[in-house]
Amino acid sequence: MTSREGALRDERLLDGPLLPVRCRRCAAEVLVRKASWEQTSIQWNAEARAACAGIQDPHDTCPALRSAIQEAALTGAIKVVE
Ligand SMILES: [Zn+2]
Repeated sequence: MTSREGALRDERLLDGPLLPVRCRRCAAEVLVRKASWEQTSIQWNAEARAACAGIQDPHDTCPALRSAIQEAALTGAIKVVE
């Protein structure tokens, strides 16, 4: 996956919905799809990127957001395609 902003727009139509997940520690809200338990697609927008204080690398995810995504998957808020 190279360009997140560009590429993910098409994927949304192919493999199920992108669902919003909000970081617990900051105001960032991203769109997430889990193809499997190991694979998570996250679509950042500029707002979320600016809001998330935990993020250091644009290709990384802040730990609080990561755990929010994990919990959403466990509770069924996000459907794991698998
Ligand atoms: Zn965050």
